[in-house]
Amino acid sequence: DRVLVWFRRDLRDHDHAALSRALHEARAVYCAFVFDTDILDALPDRSDRRVEFIWHSVRELDAALAALGGGLRVEVGRARAVIPRLARELGCDAVYANRDYEPEAVARDECVAHRLREASIAFHLFTDQLIFAPEEVVSAAGQPYRVFTPYKNAWLKGLDEARLAPHPVAERTHRLAPPGKRTLPTLEALGFSSTDLLQRGVAPGMGGAKRTWAAFQERLSDYHLLRDRPDLDATSHLSVHLRHGTISVRALVRHAYHTQGDGARIWLGELIWREFFQMILHFHPRVVDHAFRPEFDDLRWPGGDDVFAAWCVGRTGYPIVDAGMRQLTATGFMHNRVRMIVASFLTKDLLVDWRRGERHFARWLLDYELASNNGNWQWAASTGCDAQPYFRIFNPVAQSEKYDPDGSYIRRWVPELARVPDAAIHAPWQMRPIEQEACGFRIGRDYPAPIVDHAAARARALAWFSSARVQ
Ligand code: FAD
Repeated sequence: DRVLVWFRRDLRDHDHAALSRALHEARAVYCAFVFDTDILDALPDRSDRRVEFIWHSVRELDAALAALGGGLRVEVGRARAVIPRLARELGCDAVYANRDYEPEAVARDECVAHRLREASIAFHLFTDQLIFAPEEVVSAAGQPYRVFTPYKNAWLKGLDEARLAPHPVAERTHRLAPPGKRTLPTLEALGFSSTDLLQRGVAPGMGGAKRTWAAFQERLSDYHLLRDRPDLDATSHLSVHLRHGTISVRALVRHAYHTQGDGARIWLGELIWREFFQMILHFHPRVVDHAFRPEFDDLRWPGGDDVFAAWCVGRTGYPIVDAGMRQLTATGFMHNRVRMIVASFLTKDLLVDWRRGERHFARWLLDYELASNNGNWQWAASTGCDAQPYFRIFNPVAQSEKYDPDGSYIRRWVPELARVPDAAIHAPWQMRPIEQEACGFRIGRDYPAPIVDHAAARARALAWFSSARVQ
């Protein structure tokens, strides 16, 4: 009769599996969001763009639900205790939520389910943030896939219109119940200070997602041609919205699936990568701390604190690497091609444990997603499923020349090199000192010399990988 819908990473009022089902089945539907102190307390910094993103999105969702006659009950505390208490307080028979595949979320949900059961309250989870739940795309023998391409083929084969249909909310909104007290704590009350999120042009919430998506639709047809260019704005920037569910993945897949051309086809492939890594995390939760491939687990990566620190702050002497690392801390975003370059550089050129890079990204990425971050780091480090083999090592200069041809991405983030001509900007240490001075900088004084020589580092990595792995 009464259902509590618990919003987590699905901050929208439309095409929402749990909300749709609740409105269909119950006479009164309450909505709640918990600022979970188990998560907030673990954040390393009290100024975090992600908390602010969520805060704005929650505020917008509350206003949207209130306009429909409901509203969002916003609580602060340990979700595992708050949700069972709230469900009892509101006299609910059931709690509905959308499924989350991260190990900590799974453990939290099991705990909530247990406590609700003790109070004779049901708990139902729905597939919402993925088109296919992990168990739904497995091989003919019922085994999870370990390699992307067969997974993708099976995923596409299983796709049909029904799967992409929105979960309707609009017809039954009269069942939304006002949640009693409706108070949104300020960011400060949550213990966080405001950030430069909005000044950085990030638009949170459903409104932000809608605008970001509309703008990208204009660029979709060229996606396959331009997506690897960090100097251009060719990708969607929807990752943060997919992370928090301020947009429905079904709407995105529907559009891509029904749009002709290579741009839409390749972009759909990226959305499938997202599901692939969620599937991997679900079936192999040990990847959180371990290499997917046992032969690469327990390696003693020789790269030390000094080179790791130089990488973190963008002072490796390789302009494309430094530009990416500085973009990350300055904005919370890094272009995908550059993520691949810096991850390869850390793990192959510097031989630093991929987990350290993964943690640094987890600290700074606005779109941080455990499954995607871990999966991509392991891909780059060649420790993962479907990884590139360890002997494929990115050449940072060649990558830079190819994907930032006139160096404009580098110039934006490494202003020391602003006056370096296009041809020299990818490897400025090759300029003679007099040429450097003429361009207003000096290697070693204004910009670091390369911390490794790539050719030597490459040879070292090949030797190390082949001897270090467990045969
Ligand atoms: P678009 O190019 O427009 O792609 C559309 C969507 O597809 C993205 O929003 C994202 O949801 C998904 N997607 C694209 N590429 C990938 C990929 N390689 N793996 C999984 N999903 C993908 N993405 C995250 O969302 N969170 C992370 O924490 C994250 N960490 C990464 C770490 C490394 C080392 C690397 C190499 C990549 C990582 N990615 C991560 C994947 C990718 O870089 C981002 O999803 C992408 O840059 C986001 O920009 P966009 O929304 O404009 O992407």
